[in-house]
Amino acid sequence: MPKRPALPTELIHHPYTPPAGFEAPQPGVFKASTVIFPNTAALQARDWKEKNGYTYGLHGTPTTFTLEERIATLEGGLHTLLVPSGLAAITLVDTSLLGQGDEVLIPDNAYGPGKELARQELKRWGIAHRFYDAMDPGSLAAAIGPATRLVWLEAPGSITMEFPDLPALVRIARARGVTTALDNTWGAGVAFDPFAPGGDGAAGVDISVQALTKFPSGGGDVLMGSVTTRDDALHLRLKATHMHMGWGVGANDAEALLRSLPTVALRYAAQDAAARELARWWQGRLEVADVLHPALPGSPGHAHWLRNCTAAAGLFSVRFDERHPVARVHAFVDALRLFRIGYSWAGPVSLAVPYDLSVIRPGSSWRGTLVRFSIGFEAVEDLIADLEQALVAAFGG
Ligand SMILES: *Cc1c(COP(=O)(O)O)cnc(C)c1O
Repeated sequence: MPKRPALPTELIHHPYTPPAGFEAPQPGVFKASTVIFPNTAALQARDWKEKNGYTYGLHGTPTTFTLEERIATLEGGLHTLLVPSGLAAITLVDTSLLGQGDEVLIPDNAYGPGKELARQELKRWGIAHRFYDAMDPGSLAAAIGPATRLVWLEAPGSITMEFPDLPALVRIARARGVTTALDNTWGAGVAFDPFAPGGDGAAGVDISVQALTKFPSGGGDVLMGSVTTRDDALHLRLKATHMHMGWGVGANDAEALLRSLPTVALRYAAQDAAARELARWWQGRLEVADVLHPALPGSPGHAHWLRNCTAAAGLFSVRFDERHPVARVHAFVDALRLFRIGYSWAGPVSLAVPYDLSVIRPGSSWRGTLVRFSIGFEAVEDLIADLEQALVAAFGG
């Protein structure tokens, strides 16, 4: 009789294996740093390039591979890499494609922390940056120089919501042989196809990044980012940097994303409809000078939105008339009860954040105070009642 192993050993090396073939609506969750190889030959045959096996938790598990493939489908891409935040997705693209002496071009209305990354970090590594006016394709054409290696795009612009002529910008970069990367967090893979905006495959970007934190999560409780491509060589370059930098995502976060993803289009449509109703309501209010929502006629770049998109995110901004002091706008935001004060969007709770335009867009013609609204899942009539009572509280009847 072989001696029975001690209890700890037996509990670790337990002989039971559950039957194969288990299936449920949600995929199983696999957690690992260590991945066990059947033998040394398998260990030595490991290959980082293909998803044909597993080597180490950081380099992928069935859970993260499944999420990568589903995000690639959402984006209309072929390959996706997952990173711990949307900002890390921007960082992965920058660090993978840029080196000392190179230059990156960024829209002047891009997501603020991505601009700070260029100003504060890329600069230290000898990587130059320049901002261009996303609403003027000529400004991009003029900014591209011999050192330009990457052009960032964002649609619409952050906070001021101007929708650029994406195909025109992509064509300019492509004609000069420069790689394009789109921050597609707003579109989420739902509003338009980043690899064929307006149905035009020749005007598709090379790379689409998303803050999965926003629409794919929809809960306001997960941070994650994705980098998606259709080009094999470009993907491998990004994947090599991803591996060398040691970026991975946690299994519980990947699970939360897999749980939310099936409803992304439904949630997007619901928040789109609610936001358009609220934005139209604001158009009738005398306190505001502009309602900035790309699906509203008169909003900057509306014609480009119309040509490229079939939907809009549940997000818009109102610019208050400049006769109103900043303190009154802040009093309005403070008086809101259902709308909470906080960053991010696409979660269940409606959010409001005030911005001073001379701070976030210095050097532009934007002036005054703006409030950016992210619409959640509350009933629209309750949100309107909340806005009405807060306007009365701050501005009087
Ligand atoms: C939120 C956001 C990001 C960053 O995502 P995090 O996961 O919060 O880092 C990047 N780009 C845009 C447009 C965003 O809205």
